[in-house]
Amino acid sequence: MQEVKLNLPSLFVERMRARLGDEFEAFEKALEEPAPSSVRWNPAKTILEAKALPVVPWCAWGQLLPRRPSYTLDPLLHAGAYYVQEASSMFLGHVLEHLRLRGALAALDLCAAPGGKSTLLASALPEGSLLVANEVVATRAQILKENLNKWGSPNVAITSNQPEDFAQLGPVFDLMLVDAPCSGEGLFRKDPDAIGHWSPENLLMCQKRQEKILEEAWPALKEDGILIYSTCTYNPGENEQILEWLCENFAVEELPIELPEGWGVQKIEAVSASGFAFLPHRLTGEGFFLAVLRKTPGGVSGKKFKTQKKSSKNPHFSNKEQPEVLEWIDWDDADFHLPGESVEVFSGQWRGLMTNLRQNLHPLQLGQPLALPDKRGWRPDPLLSFSTRLRRDAFPRTELGLHAALTYLAKGETKADLPQGMGIFTFQDLPLGFYKQAGARVINHFPKDWRVRMDVPLVPPLPFWWLD
Ligand code: SAM
Repeated sequence: MQEVKLNLPSLFVERMRARLGDEFEAFEKALEEPAPSSVRWNPAKTILEAKALPVVPWCAWGQLLPRRPSYTLDPLLHAGAYYVQEASSMFLGHVLEHLRLRGALAALDLCAAPGGKSTLLASALPEGSLLVANEVVATRAQILKENLNKWGSPNVAITSNQPEDFAQLGPVFDLMLVDAPCSGEGLFRKDPDAIGHWSPENLLMCQKRQEKILEEAWPALKEDGILIYSTCTYNPGENEQILEWLCENFAVEELPIELPEGWGVQKIEAVSASGFAFLPHRLTGEGFFLAVLRKTPGGVSGKKFKTQKKSSKNPHFSNKEQPEVLEWIDWDDADFHLPGESVEVFSGQWRGLMTNLRQNLHPLQLGQPLALPDKRGWRPDPLLSFSTRLRRDAFPRTELGLHAALTYLAKGETKADLPQGMGIFTFQDLPLGFYKQAGARVINHFPKDWRVRMDVPLVPPLPFWWLD
């Protein structure tokens, strides 16, 4: 990739020059270099040792790639084996490891689409935890749903609500991540369009919106609960000034996070708390900011909202039907609910919170989609194929090569003469999705909206992880 000269706003340049002093030239030069590519592996699925690829220092699952490959033409991406994520954002992995969280906990990712940090949370939270991933913009919530389902972690709820709606739940979350919508200065070289939206007025609008989001969702965090606040901007108004504002208006304290030397991450000390800044000339990654606070007992707890409970009727999955579908999953403490057509499964300990979410929010999914009704009983929900709780021997499996796998993902015609009924196609031993052999026909059950929309070359390029 070629170096590009970015047309940076002069006021932005002035501010960064004042902040960075002698380092400004290096910063400006870094912005002209191609944005680095990186992926984060799914530890519950597979970790392939791509030869000689450096790891991201602050996240053991992260790998830096020498150039951007054609991710779309890699079946492992569609199988949820890895997520394409900008390296600085993976610092959340270091924070979660450092916090040494114990026991199953309830976590909210308030601004979650497309799902980079949600998939990281799903991998890093203690076993048995519940992750509620929320995205207010409906179209973006669908992308979040796709990415989280492919990741396949158990106990994930997906909602599409305004931050203020979460106050209705009461203080239920042990951890809340607010990866706030921001001015995006840190993404200028990755997304030069962001430069056109930059203005002092927009910086201020973002800051006010961040305050509003935090204030509205604050009552949903338990006392002693952890708030992780992050942005992809350098703007102090959206970073350290937000920390100051939180410390002035809410009962919070900073949670110190150890920072090993040599990573190039800058600790930014505000008056009452500090955060971590990522600058592209000091490390391999984009501009990013993150801070960790704890909600302390007492003090102002944020706006009070009236709970508006919807019907408490919980459509229950009939016990008579359970033995059949339960054989598809490894789930000792399975509990179910039947929101519409599909049965969803989650761990019984989360029934109370799941009911709370169903009554007060707009859930798109409450747990793992498991089964859909059919003429003779139940058939597996297509999304079950990605679940890490799917039993290995639940359905016959057929391994596909690279071209055949991509053809299946593009909803093209695949092999015939498989065992009759439902089966799973795999690639590198990882499920890609269901098919049904009906007589001589193979029906492709890969979700239509997620299909590969590229022509599949007869000889596809080898994926970046391919070892000779
Ligand atoms: N956490 C995501 C990830 O790691 O993939 C990126 C989140 S992005 C920085 C911020 C998200 O906030 C966007 O998806 C955007 O649609 C959403 N958003 C925009 N306005 C919002 C608002 N007023 N309240 C809550 N979320 C908002």
